[in-house]
Amino acid sequence: MRWALQKFQQDGLTARLEPVKVPHWVRGEERGEILPAPGIVGHPLAIAALGNSVGGDVTGEVIEARSIKEIAALGEKARGKVIFLDHTMGSKGGYGDWVELRGRGPAEAGKLGAAGVLLRSLATASFRSPHTGVTIYDEKGPKIPGAAISTEDAAQIHRLLRRGPVRVKFSLGCRMLPDADSANVVADVRGREKPDEIVLLGAHLDSWDLGDGANDDGAGIAVVMEVGRLIAQLKPAPRRTVRIVAYMNEENGSAGGKGYAEAHAGELAKHVAAMENDSGAARPLGVAIHAGEGGAALLKPWLSSLESLGLEPTDGETGGADIGPLGMAGVPFVGVPVDGTHYFDIHHSAADTFDKIDPEALAQEVAAFAVVAYALAEMPGTLPRPAPEPPRRHAPDSPKAR
Ligand SMILES: [Zn+2]
Repeated sequence: MRWALQKFQQDGLTARLEPVKVPHWVRGEERGEILPAPGIVGHPLAIAALGNSVGGDVTGEVIEARSIKEIAALGEKARGKVIFLDHTMGSKGGYGDWVELRGRGPAEAGKLGAAGVLLRSLATASFRSPHTGVTIYDEKGPKIPGAAISTEDAAQIHRLLRRGPVRVKFSLGCRMLPDADSANVVADVRGREKPDEIVLLGAHLDSWDLGDGANDDGAGIAVVMEVGRLIAQLKPAPRRTVRIVAYMNEENGSAGGKGYAEAHAGELAKHVAAMENDSGAARPLGVAIHAGEGGAALLKPWLSSLESLGLEPTDGETGGADIGPLGMAGVPFVGVPVDGTHYFDIHHSAADTFDKIDPEALAQEVAAFAVVAYALAEMPGTLPRPAPEPPRRHAPDSPKAR
């Protein structure tokens, strides 16, 4: 956060920290195993606590469920058991179809008196690496430990369950500490004619602890900061203010996104568009515009330089977890959907490291974001505003994710 502040200032933007309180969760030691039994060889599990999970030691018989409805239907059978949440992400359906299992599984299983939850990692590939991500308990509801296991270990449990009872044991050392002081980093290139009208570009500074967060969301931060640097060099500056927001705490609470919307509630009517980059370094596929009627047609003449990259503007769904709260004020969203084929191979896992960054794709994202941001800040009129809507669940712009 201090690095980003300094970098923005070096790049010629007017930057500041805007304080937010964030949840402070720490992982600790963790391990798990399938227990040996007649006909079953004991087997260690590649395991990672879900973000915000309580810690604890769990031993119990496994029952499989594949949806929140199926958990509820277990009723009394769930008491004292380990609920194994299985799914077919990778072969059938995408992240958005299954993310509820991670987000709500432990809270729902806890209500039935279950001992713990193991989730097949929400991933399209896995080399025995577990993929973490946030889980959310009800404030006053029971809190039971929840962890992700590698897809290989999940497949093993699924196979063993067809033959008979399976028992597992796992231990999570994670815990929640008191909320910590943190901040969004907000940086402006002041508009030359309408400085109170704002085009916002966002990405998130925080990442899961297992890897470096190079794709989620280091790449997004790199793109929006580079676009800020480029636009700060323009003379004269664009008509409107271009604002780069490096959000904090997208992953386990979205305190940054909510905090920004609250702190700036009075000026959201003057936020003329918001863009978010939270889909990794991958080839851009188009420009999606979520605005009032005719938004794409209005923006299109300004984007001809993106034709060489094959990027066509279309009216469509876009948004993001951090800019989502701005939708309640009817702020138009513009997105650059990218090829998400491999995004969920490494997402939220120890494999999200810098070597996975494709520099060519990252450069194309910078080009796309820079051209679109400049157009939004310079075109004479602004996009028609869509009907106000509450934020939707985090669904990154990865339409190609299997
Ligand atoms: Zn992210």
